[in-house]
Amino acid sequence: MSIVVMKFGGSSVDGIDRIKYVAQKIISKKKNNEIVVVVSASGNSTDNLIKKAKKITSFPSLREMDMLLATGEMVSTSLLTIMLNSMGQKAISMTGPQAGILADNNYTCAKIKKIKINRIKNCLLSGNIVIVAGFQALNVNGDITTLGRGGSDLTAIALSASLKANLCEIYSDVEGVYTADPNIVKTAKKIDCLSYDEMLEMAGAGAQILQPRSIIVAKKFGIVIHARNTFSKNPGTVITSEQNIRRKNMETLLISGITSDKNRVKFTVRNLPKGHNIVLKIFDKLAKVNIDVDMIIQSSILNKKNDIIFTVNKQNMEKTQTELNNIFLPKLNFVKIIRNERIAKISIIGVGIKENYNVIAKMFNIFYKNKINIEMINTSETIISCIVDKFNMIKAVKELHESFEIFMKR
Ligand code: ASP
Ligand code: MG
Repeated sequence: MSIVVMKFGGSSVDGIDRIKYVAQKIISKKKNNEIVVVVSASGNSTDNLIKKAKKITSFPSLREMDMLLATGEMVSTSLLTIMLNSMGQKAISMTGPQAGILADNNYTCAKIKKIKINRIKNCLLSGNIVIVAGFQALNVNGDITTLGRGGSDLTAIALSASLKANLCEIYSDVEGVYTADPNIVKTAKKIDCLSYDEMLEMAGAGAQILQPRSIIVAKKFGIVIHARNTFSKNPGTVITSEQNIRRKNMETLLISGITSDKNRVKFTVRNLPKGHNIVLKIFDKLAKVNIDVDMIIQSSILNKKNDIIFTVNKQNMEKTQTELNNIFLPKLNFVKIIRNERIAKISIIGVGIKENYNVIAKMFNIFYKNKINIEMINTSETIISCIVDKFNMIKAVKELHESFEIFMKR
């Protein structure tokens, strides 16, 4: 029998009726397969737990945050197992540590080191459906840690790799990955198939459907992901290697989609003295506290000073501000730190996009015609991203989608 890993997102287990529906879905899949299920915390429960802790203090201990947040997944995991048992099924729930998921010591954003699969394997052998709490692991201190927001996807994909599963299905409340956010662009289309690289860019640029880190693991181990809707039978989006996707024309430009991300904050550090390893100082400090940075620009205006501009995820805004204040303000009071929360990142994604020189020009022309000012630009082989005022986000996405739609056929 082959192993299938099924992961259900928070909205799929929000309430007893949905848990029952999910249980039925699992039972019908069990007919021909051994099943390992990964579950997220229901609905907004992770956000609500964070809010509760922040009511007590703005800087709760990260270890205690992990203790707190891991409970969300434990609740949905055990409820789903109780439901399956009540329907006459042999099923057993496990926390991340019980499932043998071992990680490093970075509380709230731990990285998986390895998975000891024997307990899950034994439970499968004795006929169980195994239900694992997503998003959590055990570190070398013997503590529970969490794997970063959206980390249940990572649990599912990492388990698929360790168990050599034949398929990893990621169920949520959307049909799959779209060519743009369907709430913004009514004509956005569901994409049937994406390569790991395309999906990685889409997820990193704001497509909410999968945790970016999880796609890196899927690519590394060649795990085929099927992202689909819990509540429909429609095929979703398959994410697999480029070789598995048959492209009609080898070198034709193929745009995967347009993404928008309003979850980033722009920091500008002005009047930095040249030299002194300032860039190293900033980004080394931010890396040490696990802050992901992108769109870095360093510019020196005519004078002898440098400006450095970059963006970080909104959830790291205060942490970034504190780190920058600590580096500069005690000594260099002429340095100015400016932050702008009113930004959106708009990206066009497609393998080989940079080789098609006219895409960049066309994008800028659309922004120009619509009076959308570009604050930052970043390009690579697979993505062109611009930072614009948040106010212009919807217009920018709509206009770009309309103009590039003809390159999106697959
Ligand atoms: N419950 C966690 C979160 O909301 C993990 C997940 O859902 O994947 O980020
Ligand atoms: Mg998720």
